[in-house]
Amino acid sequence: MPLDWQRALAIVAHPDDLEYGAAAAVSRWTSEGKDVAYLLVTRGEAGIDSLDPAAAARVRVREQRASAAAVGVRTVEFLDHRDGVIEEGLPLRRDLTAAIRRHRPELLVTLNHEDTWGEEGFWNTPDHRAVGRAALDAAGDAGNRWIFTDQLTQDGLEPWGGVRWVASAGASRPTHAQLLGEADVRRAVDSLAEHRAYLTALSDQDPVEYARTFLGRVLAGAAEQTGGRRALTFRLYPR
Ligand SMILES: [Zn+2]
Repeated sequence: MPLDWQRALAIVAHPDDLEYGAAAAVSRWTSEGKDVAYLLVTRGEAGIDSLDPAAAARVRVREQRASAAAVGVRTVEFLDHRDGVIEEGLPLRRDLTAAIRRHRPELLVTLNHEDTWGEEGFWNTPDHRAVGRAALDAAGDAGNRWIFTDQLTQDGLEPWGGVRWVASAGASRPTHAQLLGEADVRRAVDSLAEHRAYLTALSDQDPVEYARTFLGRVLAGAAEQTGGRRALTFRLYPR
């Protein structure tokens, strides 16, 4: 992964999306003094079957903030698109463009927006497809002063054409890898395990055990592509 940057913004649909892998790389970056902010398009309110959406949103926002803190991220923002039914369209692109113009990141991090996951071919969710694609689009929109012009004339934002790469975590055909230290893996496990209520509803396993097993699988997959090194892989879209 290129490391000649200072500011990154991670844009994903749901609380927990970054913790299923990307947070290990985030840990590496924040330990090196880089600034990483998270933007969640929803509050993940449709994610826990046994909890009604209003209660689930409160729990999941709290868990997401704790997850972010575990890997050195203090800025966590939430847009209020509806969990499960995010639409890829101008309102989403407009919101993501505004966020990019505010944060002025050099690196955008997103989650796999392809139709499927990995070699098994599990179908991806419509939210992930919509948000990943809209983030790639918004990286371009943000630099064009004639797109979403009211953000400049009314909200005091400036165009930002400084996004140099968009890194998609969990994408097929990864192009780059971020090498990790042991501490990054530990923090990534803690970060995923912070989604305690969510993981407890999902599985009978203890959240820490679940996180260790899951991330172990992700890292083993990456190691196959990096000659056995401890790393997290991304598909990098240069700009
Ligand atoms: Zn998700």
